[in-house]
Amino acid sequence: MLTDARVYAYSAVLMGSPILLKLFEDNQTLAAQVFRLIKQQENLFTVNRAASEVMAVNDAAGQHPVVVSQPVFDLIACAHAVSLLPDSLFNLAIGPLVKCWKIGFQGHSVPSETDLKMRMALTNPHDVILDAASRSVMLARPGMEIDLGAIAKGYIADVVQAFLRQQQVSNALINLGGNVQTVGAPPEEAGWAIGLKKPFGEADELIGVIGVNNRSVVTSGVYERYFELDGICYHHILNPHSGYPLDTELMSVTVISERSLDGDIYTTLLYGLGVEKGMACLADKPGIEAIFVTRDRQVICSSQRHFLFQLLDTGYRLVH
Ligand code: ADP
Ligand code: MG
Ligand code: MG
Repeated sequence: MLTDARVYAYSAVLMGSPILLKLFEDNQTLAAQVFRLIKQQENLFTVNRAASEVMAVNDAAGQHPVVVSQPVFDLIACAHAVSLLPDSLFNLAIGPLVKCWKIGFQGHSVPSETDLKMRMALTNPHDVILDAASRSVMLARPGMEIDLGAIAKGYIADVVQAFLRQQQVSNALINLGGNVQTVGAPPEEAGWAIGLKKPFGEADELIGVIGVNNRSVVTSGVYERYFELDGICYHHILNPHSGYPLDTELMSVTVISERSLDGDIYTTLLYGLGVEKGMACLADKPGIEAIFVTRDRQVICSSQRHFLFQLLDTGYRLVH
């Protein structure tokens, strides 16, 4: 599909999300290869279909270790390490809770306290046992489930970026439903202009614009997948200690980083930390930068070494 004189945009729906690829030449073959690659990757990690390597691990919970491929082992090991960081509410074993809330899927509901308690007992990341030598993963208790939903898109965005570079593409953008990864900048321009969506606004309403090149921009917002019941908004990032959606001052977190995997890890991690602890966490990580949007309409940027931010919506206040 041709959108203007130079940009060629290709779209698909994969991983339950709209996927957009922007190139600066009309190359249907390359676009088809990219979408095939995304599908192959999704098939390794998904927990929303009957079979995948991660599902094989989940199906054997409480029974036996499962040998997985190196990329799957590496991503699980990465998610495991993040889950064990101090103060981390990121939890790769969150699956039983995600499955009972079904937020963003049909049949969502508020589970009973008893159900939540039972499931919370099955989300201890220490019960995920990894053996690097045999590349095997064992879930210690029956009913445990790994869910890589918080990082798989980031990982896959990096795989696509590496593929595009390998194909000698020097300007491109891939957007995996909120996970943007870029190659270079648009020809003859300083950078990409990536819109920061207005929480609970129309699809094209923006708070501001982020300028980057050769970087990933990942946004995770409470407004992305949620349902409302009796005036309460239940969103899709869960607190493993309460069993409920994370009670947070934040409406969205955007992370600008080189690897989209880091962007995806840190959006979820920073959600759990909130602004103050989140800023402290980023202080010694110059490669990871963030934009927090709070419920009281403040926009707070960490360092801005690798991006520019322009506020467009006067209903929000930029705080330094
Ligand atoms: P988005 O879906 O907006 O990209 P995230 O990257 O933060 O947002 O991922 C949210 C997904 O991560 C949820 O849909 C669920 O599958 C999973 N998840 C929910 N809560 C947690 C948690 N505390 N730790 C890790 N993964 C989570
Ligand atoms: Mg994500
Ligand atoms: Mg994430």
